[in-house]
Amino acid sequence: MRVNFDANASVRPIPEVMESLAQYSGEFLNPSSVHQSGQAAKRVLDESRDAIARLLNVQGQDKIIFTSGATEANNAALLNTSEAKPFSVASGNSANAELICSSVEHSAVLEPLRHLSRKGLKLLEVEPEKIVRSESYSEMISDDLKIFALMAANNETGQIFDISKITKLIKAISPRTRVHCDAVQAVGKIEIDFSEWQVDTLAFSGHKLGALPGVGALVVSRYCHMEPWMFGGPQESGLRAGTENVLAIKSLGIACTEALRRLKSNDSRMSYAKELFLSYLNELGELVAVNSFGERQTPNTISVRFKGIKADDLVVALDLAGVSISAGSACASGRPSPSHVLIAHGMTAKEARETIRISFEPTISKDDLEFGLGAFKEVTSRILSQRRAA
Ligand code: PLP
Repeated sequence: MRVNFDANASVRPIPEVMESLAQYSGEFLNPSSVHQSGQAAKRVLDESRDAIARLLNVQGQDKIIFTSGATEANNAALLNTSEAKPFSVASGNSANAELICSSVEHSAVLEPLRHLSRKGLKLLEVEPEKIVRSESYSEMISDDLKIFALMAANNETGQIFDISKITKLIKAISPRTRVHCDAVQAVGKIEIDFSEWQVDTLAFSGHKLGALPGVGALVVSRYCHMEPWMFGGPQESGLRAGTENVLAIKSLGIACTEALRRLKSNDSRMSYAKELFLSYLNELGELVAVNSFGERQTPNTISVRFKGIKADDLVVALDLAGVSISAGSACASGRPSPSHVLIAHGMTAKEARETIRISFEPTISKDDLEFGLGAFKEVTSRILSQRRAA
């Protein structure tokens, strides 16, 4: 048996998606074609857009653009915003920043913004403790600010940011600043209200909620002007040319429909799993430190440090026991570097390297939970007692 407690990386396609794949008989073709097979494909796109609109409360005049995933959606939103200017020496005064993001964003947000900063725009990466303080905004924001990017929930710690409140604070000071939200880790886990949040753009990804990998979407507010990022045909409101991946988009629509239908019951499943794990971790007392950043966290994510034990060792031992989890480090060219998210929260590199992330699939079953928790207890108690003996 193998269980996926690394759901923030990817969730297995839900059964409804697998069933629709099994039933697919090649009936739909290019959605831009006028014949019946083309129109069948167009209906798939329409149905999936409707499912997304219902899940995220997107209104008719706003656009939902299908993409290859959240990395593309984030890049499209962020690189679209401003013409790069010639390099100018930054004054060091945060009030004239042209780009602001939290320092705990995913690299799919950080890197496009850093790309713009290398071209001369002044970027401010703000630590999460400051991002959540209302008083910070009058100091950070001026009319110069083109983009403000903040994730709805963090992929490593599960910290939830109050996007609705923060968007209002920003727009009150600088109405023309474009607010972008990477909602990858929030969709299907907490309620999202695109209309109420009043962000300009919102990105999310299919494979984090049980659709196929390689599909996602960018939601664009009717008040936000976007330039195309793929030039060619008229697909996707002329913003993203190219024939759509109809089968993957179908899976996204199904996953969104199921996520909405099961939002409450999935929340109970994830919260229950989290509760059981936290109660075991509490029993371990001083041997572990559970990270709890911000006022609210997603119901499926636990970030915990096993003191004195390398996260990579735990990941391997658990993998051998049939449990997939991840370490709080990103492996770049074979050399794991400590997570920038944990470092932004003030942890040392050593502490970050001892931190693991456990993240449950929204539809986690009783059997998976029982098996996974049993294996987790067995492996961690063995490793802890080996350490005591050493
Ligand atoms: N943003 C966040 C917060 C993520 O967790 C991820 C994936 O881990 C991404 C963006 C990138 O998503 P995708 O794999 O769809 O490109």
